[in-house]
Amino acid sequence: MSSKDTPPLPEPLRVPVADSHTHLDMQDATVEEGLARAAAVNVTTVIQVGCDVKGSRWAAETAAAHPSVYAAVALHPNEAPRIVHGDPDGWSRQGGREPGGKAALDEALAEIDRLAALDQVRGVGETGLDYFRTGPEGMAAQEESFRAHIEIAKRHGKALVIHDREAHADVLRVLADAGAPERTVFHCYSGDVAMARICADAGYFMSFAGNVTFKNAQPLRDALSVAPIELILVETDAPFLTPAPYRGRPNAPYLIPVTLRAMAEVKGVDEDTLASAINENTARAFDY
Ligand SMILES: [Zn+2]
Ligand SMILES: [Zn+2]
Repeated sequence: MSSKDTPPLPEPLRVPVADSHTHLDMQDATVEEGLARAAAVNVTTVIQVGCDVKGSRWAAETAAAHPSVYAAVALHPNEAPRIVHGDPDGWSRQGGREPGGKAALDEALAEIDRLAALDQVRGVGETGLDYFRTGPEGMAAQEESFRAHIEIAKRHGKALVIHDREAHADVLRVLADAGAPERTVFHCYSGDVAMARICADAGYFMSFAGNVTFKNAQPLRDALSVAPIELILVETDAPFLTPAPYRGRPNAPYLIPVTLRAMAEVKGVDEDTLASAINENTARAFDY
């Protein structure tokens, strides 16, 4: 069996849950196939997340066409600096992005703002800070974009979906400084126990992805074990972060049960209890 093989369908969950963060537009299956496979294992709702203007429009259209899909719209933290400065690594040479400056960022944010008003759009994100892929030259544009998304989420009463990669302290600082929206979700939660306590005190949701199953992820499992059950969500972030034992193979929403079962073990609760909690939490976070 090659590493590219699609993992098999896991045993269905008995209690329906949502995949709180996925990218159907980056997966091999069609939307219909992806949703049908997910529904077959009782993953009955997915949040489709846009990462740029085009992807956010697509997310909104897809959610409008499918009752089991809600959308989140945003400029990804790595996208905002690209809009302002272009991409020195060759993106623009591939027929893509020329530097557009601040005016281009404002224009893109205006479109995100327009999409955020739509009823099927329940989240603004993924936004936040990414110090792994974006260097110091992009940090100002990234933070400006993050703050603009926080403002948009609050004005429209939508959940804020945070992407935080190697930027925990600054993400928490900006949120506290700008004032977090009523419902804030840390997608692909990657903090430690201490940060989980800060998130819990602030009422931030923590959404765990397939990497919680990885052998080297004990600190993440420790964070999960202290996170209050009423603030826990589950996600695939598919096509990325396929849970063990399928690491390296394509991820999709139908693999949520694999991650959820590993999480239930960490929490010391049975699968149905965790699934029920997650189902309620996700509906509360995204107000559906
Ligand atoms: Zn992300
Ligand atoms: Zn994502």
